[in-house]
Amino acid sequence: MIITVSRAADLGQVRKALAGIGLWVSPPERREDGEALLVVQSSSTQVDVEQIRAVQGVVSISRPDSTHPRVDAQGPVAQVGKNSIGREAPVLIAGPCSVESREQILRIATTLRERGVLYLRGGAFKPRSSPYAFQGKGSEALGWMRDAADACGQSVITEVLSEHDVAAVAEHADVLQIGSRNMHNYALLKSVGKTSRPVLLKRSMSATVEEWLLAGEYLLSSGAGSVMFCERGVRTFDESTRNLLDLGAVALLSHVHKLPVIVDPSHATGRRDLIVPLARAALAAGAAGVMIEVHDKPEQAESDAPQALHPDALGPVLQALRGGDA
Ligand code: PEP
Ligand code: MN
Repeated sequence: MIITVSRAADLGQVRKALAGIGLWVSPPERREDGEALLVVQSSSTQVDVEQIRAVQGVVSISRPDSTHPRVDAQGPVAQVGKNSIGREAPVLIAGPCSVESREQILRIATTLRERGVLYLRGGAFKPRSSPYAFQGKGSEALGWMRDAADACGQSVITEVLSEHDVAAVAEHADVLQIGSRNMHNYALLKSVGKTSRPVLLKRSMSATVEEWLLAGEYLLSSGAGSVMFCERGVRTFDESTRNLLDLGAVALLSHVHKLPVIVDPSHATGRRDLIVPLARAALAAGAAGVMIEVHDKPEQAESDAPQALHPDALGPVLQALRGGDA
């Protein structure tokens, strides 16, 4: 069982009160939003959860029968550097599918920053279905992206494809992305968790919600600072869009599990004409943000060109993010 304690509470007093009703807890782990987690290690007797809830400072209790107690205890906010995702207005994460050159990522970062975008995405290591397709520019692209983001005051989100690259990606990125194809790669999840960084966990294209939450549990139990759950569409029988955006899962994770959810309408649809309406639908369903692939020369993008959106097309999404008409 994990007990979440408010940031203002006196932890010594809370632990004393818990011991008073027969619960011994581990040393507190301070969450990034200031709340503290107490893991119950042993109890002298069967304790009624209402007794725990009555202890001053206790915010929530995640029950032992949950398969993902740390995910349950995480809360809806992810801290990325000095910014919070999930606390106030939803955010836009944008950038190219692939980082192609120093100049390309700086141009795109600059034009996004002019539109107020604080989170820059871009792939250095690309998980392509074909081994003959462009595989990304690798390590040097990490440096180009970091420099562009620093010049524009942005945070970097990029995918880590393999355990070998975790240290290099953690050195350059603020948020480590686990791609759809790697959601079930538990060794990678553990090693990314150990960096203590916030993680954007993409849902595998065939994962159940429970499997997705359990992948989040791998990350958090290995030490990840926080996990944002990214819905990017699931596989289905219909080929008219690249994937099927599961907005039901977005609402479930946002409103029932109270987790930070990011929606990626780019990979969900594979078509630039559907990205804006689905981004707005995602915000209406409760997403804490949307992640959109953007390129200043969309037709020339080295990967995922059909879904690359020109920055000028972001207007309605930016308006919806400001509460205009999500
Ligand atoms: C990406 O975001 O660059 C990507 C490859 O997405 P996914 O893992 O969802 O296919
Ligand atoms: Mn892509």
